[in-house]
Amino acid sequence: MTAEINRRIVLAARPQGRPAAADFRLEEAPVPEPGPGQMLCRTIYLSLDPYMRGRMSDAPSYTKPVQVGEVMVGGTVGQVVRSNLDGFAPGDFVVGPGGWQDYAVFGEGEAQKVDPGVAPISTTLGVLGMPGQTAYVGLREIGRPSAGETLVVAAASGPVGSMVGQIAKFRGCRVVGVAGSKAKCDYVRGELGFDACLDHRAPDFEDALRAACPDGIDLYWENVGGRVFEAVLPLLNEFARVPVCGLVAWYNATELPPGPDRTPLLLRRTLVRRLTIRGFIVWDFEPGDFVNDVAEWIRDGRVRYREDIREGLENAPAALIGLLEGENFGKLLVRVAPDPTR
Ligand code: NDP
Repeated sequence: MTAEINRRIVLAARPQGRPAAADFRLEEAPVPEPGPGQMLCRTIYLSLDPYMRGRMSDAPSYTKPVQVGEVMVGGTVGQVVRSNLDGFAPGDFVVGPGGWQDYAVFGEGEAQKVDPGVAPISTTLGVLGMPGQTAYVGLREIGRPSAGETLVVAAASGPVGSMVGQIAKFRGCRVVGVAGSKAKCDYVRGELGFDACLDHRAPDFEDALRAACPDGIDLYWENVGGRVFEAVLPLLNEFARVPVCGLVAWYNATELPPGPDRTPLLLRRTLVRRLTIRGFIVWDFEPGDFVNDVAEWIRDGRVRYREDIREGLENAPAALIGLLEGENFGKLLVRVAPDPTR
């Protein structure tokens, strides 16, 4: 099963603005040997996520950047090849931070076992993994949706937004999605059951959002910033909550947008409407019943999800570049090796 080489993609240069193919480099290295208390895993799926753009930059952030020459970080699900780690045997499926490479070595506590009987193993990188957990804990701790409220979420067909909207629907909210194409909006309404979904690229997006939220907005889940945030701000009701989860519209920005300075408008709106605008990172909150709840929701069909699977590790850079511009449709994954469970 072990190949002769470990292909890996490293950060070749820090991007200026939109990443380019030349910012990544595909290298070949020997397959690493697991030491005592370690296991060697072959990557099956690599998760591509918007946060990776932040790791390519050395601007101050909530965690340290990838250094030039280092393997790109990323969540992976794979299969144990050799194990010197108690509790893990060859053939076991595991999820962990394996990075953009064919093989990864994990030590104690660095990877968790995956039961392929619960759901497809790829879901541990999406609906049953970090993005799903982000939606689950952010709503529980900050969003606190209640019946009758209106929630708006952008990137609505993606793993975070789709989960936010579906959970809010269970809670009895009116749920309005925002997405980047007609096909995505059709999916969000038709398959995910949102009450409405609007295309943020449409010329009349602002008017359409106002019409879709006749009672204003009680909960805006911030995934993107940019034009969507500008359209939402005047519609926020008193005591609205804004969990700030991500700002993908600005991840490739190299400077602030041109003026005028709108900070006074934002702060005045925050004061008079008594808004709660709170940033968070998934690991700030305990997962609680996340895995059990979501596994059950998948089984009983209450939660639907969509995956966008690209073939081959070498295609990961182009896929990440496209993710930041909305080219993905569903949770973006790279199949690095065949999935023996499918
Ligand atoms: P997605 O798979 O949904 O991919 C990102 C999507 O963002 C694109 O597909 C695109 O969708 C949308 N997008 C890109 N540019 C714009 C723009 N200018 N305006 C509006 N939408 C845009 O991503 P995820 O579900 O994985 O992540 C969603 C957000 O959550 C991201 O900001 C991410 O960084 C954040 N996040 C935060 C975490 C935390 O701990 N705080 C953890 C996980 C994710 P479309 O074509 O529909 O516009």
